Amino acid sequence: MGRRLGQHFLVRQSILASIAEAACPEAGETVIEIGPGRGALTSHLVERAARAVAIEIDPVLAQYLREKFRDSPKLEIVESDVLRAPLDAYGPVTVAGNLPYYITSPIVEKTLALGPLLRRAVFLVQQEVAARLAAVPGTRDYGYLSVAAQLRAEVSILFPVSRAAFRPPPKVDSAVVRLLPRPEAPASMDTAALLQFAGLCFRQKRKTIRNNLLGAYAKERLDALAECGHRAEQLSIAELAALHRTLTAV
Ligand code: SAM
Repeated sequence: MGRRLGQHFLVRQSILASIAEAACPEAGETVIEIGPGRGALTSHLVERAARAVAIEIDPVLAQYLREKFRDSPKLEIVESDVLRAPLDAYGPVTVAGNLPYYITSPIVEKTLALGPLLRRAVFLVQQEVAARLAAVPGTRDYGYLSVAAQLRAEVSILFPVSRAAFRPPPKVDSAVVRLLPRPEAPASMDTAALLQFAGLCFRQKRKTIRNNLLGAYAKERLDALAECGHRAEQLSIAELAALHRTLTAV
């Protein structure tokens, strides 16, 4: 059960304190913690935040947390699958957590979909995923996840975390990433449509954009555009957005 839910508990206090500090640099904020486990990070977050909401799917752990934090009125334990929980019900929030790695991408997506309600997100993720989130164009790690994250947030890798800092240790090393939402996208940019377009462009990473977009746009239009001869991994977000505008212009 534990391994299936990605239950690797972080035990090094110095790392837990650094994650909480990055998540709540100022007093007075509301923080949502995803996957609190036995509450190791939760204790640090509760100390720093004005209000904390911890979302845990495992009923045994949720009960353990209710006991452990029964004298902490600032903390609400929500027993739920985070992917079904209404993250937008708490006003402007910071989202933090040592994430269950099997659902990192949907959690990042759900967090970024908070839009203006998101103050920042600080996540412990697999190192490889951290590299993909922060990757720049033209590198091996750059792909749909990089575009999806960086379109809406400035991504920084804060520090690495070795597998030895966990009980039981996972099979991979990890890193802490911070996502700082960008100011509102320009009104001219339809983020959802652009993400869908990026998804098509990266559908098969080794293919050219032209070949990935065949079927969605007329062949003649694709053949007329030089960028379509590249792979999507070679294009910056601004270039992908420009190509999208060109192809959707009537
Ligand atoms: N934060 C704790 C720590 O650092 O020690 C535990 C982190 S552990 C990597 C991931 C936690 O997420 C586990 O407690 C697991 O039960 C929980 N979890 C797994 N899937 C979940 C889901 N869909 N929704 C909410 N919590 C989930």
